[in-house]
Amino acid sequence: MVLAGGIGGARFLRGLKSAVPDADVTVIGNTGDDIHLFGLKVCPDLDTVMYTLGGGINEEQGWGRAEESFAVKDELAAYGVGPEWFGLGDRDFATHIVRTQMLSAGYPLSAVTEALCARWQPGVTLLPMTDDRVETHVLIDTADLDESQRGEGGESRKAVHFQEYWVRLRASVDAHAVVPVGAESAKPAPGVLDAIADADVILFPPSNPVVSVGTILAVPGMREAIAEAGVPVVGLSPIVGDAPVHGMADKVLAAVGVESTAAAVAQHYGSGLLDGWLVDTVDAGSTQAVEDAGIRCRAVPLMMTGTDATAAMAREALALAEEVSA
Ligand code: GDP
Ligand code: CA
Repeated sequence: MVLAGGIGGARFLRGLKSAVPDADVTVIGNTGDDIHLFGLKVCPDLDTVMYTLGGGINEEQGWGRAEESFAVKDELAAYGVGPEWFGLGDRDFATHIVRTQMLSAGYPLSAVTEALCARWQPGVTLLPMTDDRVETHVLIDTADLDESQRGEGGESRKAVHFQEYWVRLRASVDAHAVVPVGAESAKPAPGVLDAIADADVILFPPSNPVVSVGTILAVPGMREAIAEAGVPVVGLSPIVGDAPVHGMADKVLAAVGVESTAAAVAQHYGSGLLDGWLVDTVDAGSTQAVEDAGIRCRAVPLMMTGTDATAAMAREALALAEEVSA
């Protein structure tokens, strides 16, 4: 069982599938990044996992479809219909149309995800964390924005959708808080709690600890179910050498008062949740601090440079799981 965000989660899953091809893998996907655009429901993290494992991903980019074209986006722009900062390609649009059509017909997101996966055959059971609407919002100070970003109105604290913060603003201003709106009343999707209870091992891939794994853990019952599953819980650090490997995870970590170090992220999850934690070899000096926090820690190469390197990371995570359960 793996809790996954987008790119980091998806790439790790590809390595895990390669390391243990016969394993039954259930993935709980983050839906806090979901956004309604052009009347369509877009689920970036679920789609990144589905496309990556199903062979449809744009490999260089890490998200979106391979061999994509942007005729619809150009046509929307010609009508002056935005937002123009969120890139949806023609092939990708089809996914969102099918999803939205099924949701409008009354199917829950979990059933829709299953239907989309029937085409992509990702080789894992992909479950959204919840069928309920959860939307991550980021609190920013409009005074921090430059004029082109600011728009109308005075200076004040403002909550923006996570995608607006991440994609439009490129996390260029401080995040003062990260709020998974709707999480408090969300229920785990059908099958999620059973999958946790049935798991042999629970892995946190190198996904964003705040807006990916953190959002999944914010669904009531999720954290408790994982802590009480009685199986090893092992995570892999998305922070290498005191910085995120890609992206701006440091910004949202700062918003929750966590330093961008491999050890601080482990302590943020805490020994109540994590039994084991892998840091990169460059962070070998921090293993003691993690162990002092009651979490078994090893330093191994954690750069997902290819499927073989990522499979080796997955094997290390499973070995550590074995070790902590002994
Ligand atoms: P997102 O939803 O696309 O942002 O993806 P995730 O939440 O799954 O993961 C993003 C995180 O993965 C970022 O914080 C990156 O630092 C981390 N990451 C990306 N590539 C690698 C890698 O090769 N190794 C490690 N250790 N972390 C990585
Ligand atoms: Ca994401």
